[in-house]
Amino acid sequence: MIRKLVQLFAVMLLLTIIGAVAIRYSGLRTETMLSKSDGKIKVVTTFYPIYLIGLNIADQVENVEVDSLTKLNTGCLHDYQLTTEDMKLIATADVMVINGGGMEGFLEDVTANYPNLTIIDTSQGISMLPNINNTFANDTSTAEEASKLGEYNAHVWLDPKLYMKQIENFRDGLLHYINNADQGINLEIEKITKKINQNSDIYLNEVQQLDQQIENYSNRITKSSEQKSINRKAVIFHDSFAYLANYVGMEVTFTVPLDSDTALSAGDIAEIVDEVKAQDIKYLFTEQQYSDSIAKQIEEETNAKVYIIDSVVTGDGAKDSYLKSMINNLDVLKTATQ
Ligand SMILES: [Zn+2]
Repeated sequence: MIRKLVQLFAVMLLLTIIGAVAIRYSGLRTETMLSKSDGKIKVVTTFYPIYLIGLNIADQVENVEVDSLTKLNTGCLHDYQLTTEDMKLIATADVMVINGGGMEGFLEDVTANYPNLTIIDTSQGISMLPNINNTFANDTSTAEEASKLGEYNAHVWLDPKLYMKQIENFRDGLLHYINNADQGINLEIEKITKKINQNSDIYLNEVQQLDQQIENYSNRITKSSEQKSINRKAVIFHDSFAYLANYVGMEVTFTVPLDSDTALSAGDIAEIVDEVKAQDIKYLFTEQQYSDSIAKQIEEETNAKVYIIDSVVTGDGAKDSYLKSMINNLDVLKTATQ
C-alpha cells in the first residue's frame, strides 16, 4: 500500500513538473512569436520614405508601433553603416520594412544577427531603372560607385505609381505578419486588419491623385516637346531624380553623384561644363539635401539652369510629407519647362 502511494505520488509529481515546463514553454513561445515589446507589434522601417508609409498605414492602429531605424535627416542609405544603437533597436523589432533593391547595404548584417526577424521588402515585384553610368568621376570612384550602388536604381518611391506598389507591399506584408501571429495575446486581429486596410486605401488614394497631376503634366510636356522638338536634356546630381525625369519625358544625359563621398576635381568639373555645352543641356537638377555649389558653378559657365528638387529622403516626419514634397517637385518641373 505504501509502495503504491509512493508510486502515485511520484506520478503526480512528474505530471506537475511536465505541466509547469509546458506552461513556461508556451509562455516563452508567445512572447517571442507575437511581439517583443509589451504585447505590441513593433515595426522598424529603414529610412524616411518607408517610414512615411508606416506612419500612414498604421495611423491610430492599436498595438502597432512604427519607428525609423535611421534619423529623419539621415537621407539616402547608400553609405550607411549600422550603429550599436541601431542593432539594439532592431533587436526589439518584430518586423523590419526595407526599400530593397540594394538601398540597405547593411541588410546582410541584420539577417546574420537576427535570422528570425520578419523582413518586408517594399520594392518586391517592381522593375527598377538601370543605374546610369557616371562618366565624370575618376576611374577608382567609378568602380567603387558601381559596386556600392549595384546594377539598379533603387529610388523607386519617386515615381508615385511605384510608390503605390510599395504601399501595397508594406500593407500586405504587415497584414500577413499580423494574421499569422500567435493569437494567444490580446490582439484584435480583425479590428487591426480593418483599420490598416482603411488607412492604406486613404493613402493610396492620395498618392493616386498626386500621380494623376504628374501624369497630366507629363502628357502636356511630352506632347509639346514632340510638336516643337523641344530639348529636355538634363543632368542630375543624385540618381533618385531619374524616376521623375523618366516619368515626365526628360532625357537624363548623365549623373554627377553628390550623394556619395566622390570628390570632383577641377578637371572633372571642366569636363562636365564642356559636355553640358556640347549637348546643349538645359536643366541641372540638384537636391535640397545636398550642396548645390558644383551645379551653380556649371550654371555660371553654361546655358543650363539649376533647379532644386526634393528626393523625400529627409523631412519633418509629418504624415503628408511625401505628398507635399512631390507637389513641390511638380511645381519645380513646371517652372523649369514653362
Ligand atoms: Zn540615393
